[in-house]
Amino acid sequence: MNCEILAVGTELLLGNTVNTNATRLSELLAGLGINVFWHSVVGDNPARLRDAAALARSRADLIITTGGLGPTYDDLTKNVLADVFGKELVFHEDEAEGIRCWFAKSGRACTENNLQQAYLPEGCTVFHNDWGTAPGCAFEAEGVHVILLPGPPRECLPMFRHCAVPYLRALTEETLVSRQIRVFGMGESAVETYFREEMEHMANPTLATYAKEGEVMLRVTAKAATEAEAAAMCEPVVEKVKNTLGDIVYGVDVDSLESLCLMLLREKHQTFAAAESLTGGLIGARFTALPGASEVFRGGAVTYCDEVKAAMLHIDPALIAAHGAVSHETAAAMAQGVRDAAGADIGVSATGLAGPDGDGVHPVGTVFVGLAASDGVWVRHLTLGNARSRDIIRAISANNAYDMIRRYLTGLPVADNDSRPQGQ
Ligand code: AMP
Ligand code: MG
Repeated sequence: MNCEILAVGTELLLGNTVNTNATRLSELLAGLGINVFWHSVVGDNPARLRDAAALARSRADLIITTGGLGPTYDDLTKNVLADVFGKELVFHEDEAEGIRCWFAKSGRACTENNLQQAYLPEGCTVFHNDWGTAPGCAFEAEGVHVILLPGPPRECLPMFRHCAVPYLRALTEETLVSRQIRVFGMGESAVETYFREEMEHMANPTLATYAKEGEVMLRVTAKAATEAEAAAMCEPVVEKVKNTLGDIVYGVDVDSLESLCLMLLREKHQTFAAAESLTGGLIGARFTALPGASEVFRGGAVTYCDEVKAAMLHIDPALIAAHGAVSHETAAAMAQGVRDAAGADIGVSATGLAGPDGDGVHPVGTVFVGLAASDGVWVRHLTLGNARSRDIIRAISANNAYDMIRRYLTGLPVADNDSRPQGQ
C-alpha cells in the first residue's frame, strides 16, 4: 500500500507551524509496513486543496490528511475530499451529541458551527475524537482509502493509533513485526558494510540501518499471517546481527542508552551521579526525563569553569593547572569527585571541546568521558573532529557516559586506551 500524507493548513506554509504530523505519521506507517511515497502540504484554500487531493488520488492508494477538520470557515478538508471522491456529507447525531457534551463539560457554549463537525462523508468509518471535538473518519472510494485526521498533534496522533491503525490492520491479511537493534560504538556506514550484500537480497524479513543521533539502529521487519510467525522470522536475523556486531549491540527493542542504564542500575541496585562540563547538564537532563530516574540518579553538577570544577568537586586546582580542564586526569578527578560528593556508586564525567572554537591546545571534538566506581576509574578519550555540530558532539559525549555505565554494569571493558572505537 502506497501512501500520501496531505497536511492541510496555511500556518504550515507560512512557517508558523512545523509539519510534525507528517514526520510522526511516517514513522508509525513505516512500522506498519506501509510505504509513504509523498508528503504534501497545502493551505486552507479550496481550489488548491482540490488539486492536491486529485493529484494524491491519482498516485496513492492511501491518502491521510491532517488538519482542516475544525468548525471554522477555513476548515475545508472534509468538504473538499468528500467532493473529490463523490461522497455526500451525512449528519451523525451521536457525534453531534458528543460535541455538545464536550462543550457542556468544559463549561462553554456550543455554537451552531461546532455541529458542522458532525457531518461526515457517507458510508465512512467514524473515528470518534476522545482528545478534542472534531471527529475523523476513513472511507474507500475508487479503490483508494482516505483517512481524515485533525491537525493538532495531541489529537491527530492518538487518533491515528487508536482509530486509523485498527482500520489499516483490517485491510490486510498480513501482520507485521519489527525488531529494533540498537548499536553504539560504530558508524552507520561501517555497520552497513557488514550486512549490505545480504540486505540487498532480503525480501521478507528485511533488514535496514538508520543513523540516529550519535548511534545506529537496525530494523528487522517480517510479514506473516500471524504475529507469532512474523516474530519467529525476525529472530534468526536479530541473532545474526547480534553475533556479528558483538557487544556494541546494547539492546533490542529498548528506547535509548539511558533507558537501558536505568534498567541495569535498578536491577543491580546501583546509583550514579554526573559531573558535566561540555554537556552542561545533558546527561542529567536526558536521564531525569525517564520516569523512575529518582531511584538510581543521585544528582549532578554542571561544573563549567576550572574554579567551579575545583570547588564543587573537590579537585586540587594544581591538578587542573598541570593537565588542563580538558584532560584524562581532570575527567577522572571529576568522576571521582561527583561520586564522593553525591554518595553514588558510580560517578561519570564529561569534559571537552564542543566547538566551534578550540582552546589552542586540543582540536575541537576532543572529549574525555570518565567513570569512577569502587573498583576503578576509567576514561575514554574521544576525538570527534570539527566537522560535527556542537549539539552532536555534546550528544555523543553523553552517549559515551551512558555506554560506560552500561558496560561497567554488564562486566564489559569500560574503556581501554585512547584508540578504542568511539561512538560515531
Ligand atoms: P486544524 O485541525 O486545521 O484546525 O489544526 C489546528 C492546529 O493544529 C493548527 O493551528 C496547528 O497548530 C496544528 N497543526 C495543524 N496541522 C499540523 C501539522 N501537520 N503538524 C503539526 N501541527 C499541526
Ligand atoms: Mg487549520
